[in-house]
Amino acid sequence: MKSYDAVIVGGGASGIVAAVFAKRKGASVLLCEKMPKLGKKLLVTGAGRCNLLNEKLNESFYNPEARDLVRSVLGRCGKDAMLGFFRELGLQVAADETGRIFPVTQQAASVLKVLELEVTRLEITVKLDCEVQDLRAVAGAFEVRTASEERFVSPKVILCAGGKSYPALGADGSAYVLAQKFGHTVTEPVPCVVPLLAKDPWCHFLQGQKIRAKVTARVDGKPVSEAAGELLFTQYGLSGTAVLDVSREISIAVNRDGKKIASVTADLIPAMNEGELKKEFGRRLERKFPREELLEGLLPHKFSLAFRDILQKEDVAALVKVLKHKEFKVSGTRGWNEAEFTAGGVPAEEVDIATLESNRQKGLYLAGEVLDVQGARGGYNLAWAWASGAVAGSSI
Ligand SMILES: Cc1cc2nc3c(=O)[nH]c(=O)nc-3n(C[C@H](O)[C@H](O)[C@H](O)COP(=O)(O)OP(=O)(O)OC[C@H]3O[C@@H](n4cnc5c(N)ncnc54)[C@H](O)[C@@H]3O)c2cc1C
Repeated sequence: MKSYDAVIVGGGASGIVAAVFAKRKGASVLLCEKMPKLGKKLLVTGAGRCNLLNEKLNESFYNPEARDLVRSVLGRCGKDAMLGFFRELGLQVAADETGRIFPVTQQAASVLKVLELEVTRLEITVKLDCEVQDLRAVAGAFEVRTASEERFVSPKVILCAGGKSYPALGADGSAYVLAQKFGHTVTEPVPCVVPLLAKDPWCHFLQGQKIRAKVTARVDGKPVSEAAGELLFTQYGLSGTAVLDVSREISIAVNRDGKKIASVTADLIPAMNEGELKKEFGRRLERKFPREELLEGLLPHKFSLAFRDILQKEDVAALVKVLKHKEFKVSGTRGWNEAEFTAGGVPAEEVDIATLESNRQKGLYLAGEVLDVQGARGGYNLAWAWASGAVAGSSI
């Protein structure tokens, strides 16, 4: 049986970086990836542009339960260290006006390429089409078994096999099964950064329309999160950046906690408050705007058709109320094929905050999306993958 100082399970963002850092320490490393290529998911990130980091990176952009762990990991490998790492690999990056960092090529493929070049330069052993099916602790080491019945032995294993989002790109939840073998618990994974299902005739009627809005997610009537940005109407419900940003809390409530009452309230004209809107409609009525055209110039034309009944009544107060507090009842979320991330996984408190070593099994380390760590959209999830991969890889 071939032996290595460390076996990395999963060749995505966290696994590639873990392999690089482990190898730089002088370890012999085997990187096992079940897909025919490393980093398939990386190629689709940021709509193909890869938003790999954020200028504002700190633990406050992550779920509260994980913040101690994130603070500790970013303390060892924060934004500047990661920027330095990528610069050393030859990747030029630039931040946009909101602080999101992209490669200057605007191509995710550039990020993957520089990582692959480093893997090659360091002569890391990579096995593709290599699905790790079983891990066993035997006499102070791990026996690693693959789907094709290969076996390897190593005193250290870094589990970087991701969560459950976009299973066609590789990560399908198998990391949880491997972690559970060593006594880890798994907080039920649910889709996160995901469009919402809403049975509202408006959604169907307005499908394809995209506006800027402020949205508030509610569970049992109580606000749980809010965001401003794009609101996109779809055949099945709601999407767009603002909706994706509030989807985590709704998904946990309906998909994990079995809550039946969830909704999104949208402020469709966030640039004006209720008083300003009332004044504006008063002005329009004075100027003899036809009733059915009162919304022209404020919202796309199709909204005038959606609002036809209210506009007919010429009831400005009722119109303003709907425009500022339109409620959509949410019945669920889209599935894993449309979720950018996983909420849930191995709880943060089950790993050592300095090294990411499992506190259930000596020699086992966990990094990336397999852990119950979720960042906001904007480069925070890849930041976690890089940073946790680097810390685990340099801790072995
Ligand atoms: C459409 C989309 C867009 C995104 N855009 C962004 C963005 O712009 N910015 C951002 O910060 N985040 C983004 N994300 C999130 C980001 O991709 C993840 O945070 C990141 O990929 C997680 O890295 P990971 O290494 O933990 O998991 P993954 O990247 O999922 O890698 C896990 C790897 O393990 C392999 N694997 C799984 N099981 C096994 C096994 N048993 N044996 C061997 N190999 C296995 C998988 O094939 C996979 O290659 C996006 C996600 C999606 C789906």
